[in-house]
Amino acid sequence: MADFVPVNEWGLFPAGDRPFVVAGPCSAESREQVLEAAQALRDCGTGVLRAGLWKPRTHPGGFEGVGARGLAWLQEARRASGIKVCTEVGSAAHVKACLEAGVDMVWIGARTTANPFQVQEICDALEGSDIPVLVKNPVSPDVDLWIGAIERLASSGIKKVAAVLRGFTTLDKTPYRNAPVWEMATLLGARLPKLPLFVDPSHIAGSAELVKELSQRALDLGACGLMVEVHPHPDQALSDAAQQLTPAQFGIMLSDLKVRSANCEDAGYQQALAALRAKIDDVDGRLLSLLAERMQVSRQIGVLKQEHSISIIQTGRWEAVLEAVRKEASALGLDQSMAERIFNIIHDYSVKAQD
Ligand code: PEP
Ligand code: MN
Repeated sequence: MADFVPVNEWGLFPAGDRPFVVAGPCSAESREQVLEAAQALRDCGTGVLRAGLWKPRTHPGGFEGVGARGLAWLQEARRASGIKVCTEVGSAAHVKACLEAGVDMVWIGARTTANPFQVQEICDALEGSDIPVLVKNPVSPDVDLWIGAIERLASSGIKKVAAVLRGFTTLDKTPYRNAPVWEMATLLGARLPKLPLFVDPSHIAGSAELVKELSQRALDLGACGLMVEVHPHPDQALSDAAQQLTPAQFGIMLSDLKVRSANCEDAGYQQALAALRAKIDDVDGRLLSLLAERMQVSRQIGVLKQEHSISIIQTGRWEAVLEAVRKEASALGLDQSMAERIFNIIHDYSVKAQD
């Protein structure tokens, strides 16, 4: 797949910004609310204001957004505070309206990513533009559906693309509104290593109290950006009230977040790391030779048992070995359950070798 333009070259985020921050209300509700949010967020260093104009609601009858008339509020917020602006697009008509209004970035929502017809319609409407697009994960944990949407954008010549992990619908009960399933980000990263990853802790959390720890987790796992819901008065929000932070809470969160770097050029660090890695390689080599030696002995035992018509598995013996392993592991300060799991695997293969 085509290369992706790194986020720091999108011209949206202040230079040196880490993480890249997109924040703002779930929905644009009024001109005043958008302007107030934009100013407060600009004051905490946010690069891009988010505000949904067309809201995909699970149930009919909920607040479905103010629609295209909110574009003028985003333009005004942009002029007044200097912040860049983005909103969700779910159709070609939305894309057209956003491009005409000079919106700086758009995102494709989780329900839309799950629908290739809609994604294709959006891609066709985006063709020829240079606008950055964030692609939320589809509601179900299906990495191919997510990648498919990104491939469609690439085929339409859109190069400023990032994925947004916003959690998944699962039957399992979790403390979250949408289970994060962090492995999905790893799977996506393995398939598209150059694709930038954002995390939307707000839609994962479903409640404001969980947003900070999820944001930290996202950064620890290597996400380069966050999309966070922030509302000047969350208790009055017309959608997603429970998960939105106040600008003050958001500012504190941003200053508390610790950013780990992916790499470090410091020569001392590089040398110490190389020395420790050499030690690990040496230990791994010795572990493997010991395993080979052990398997050799197992095979000899197998031959001996066969010559004397003795059954391969002898439970009493294996229980005694495991007991000894647990004792030895704990004397060496090792996790007993780790040692037990490893020896069970070794035992399985020993039994196979005696067949
Ligand atoms: C949103 O960002 O407000 C939204 C509707 O998100 P999602 O598509 O992740 O549910
Ligand atoms: Mn929302």
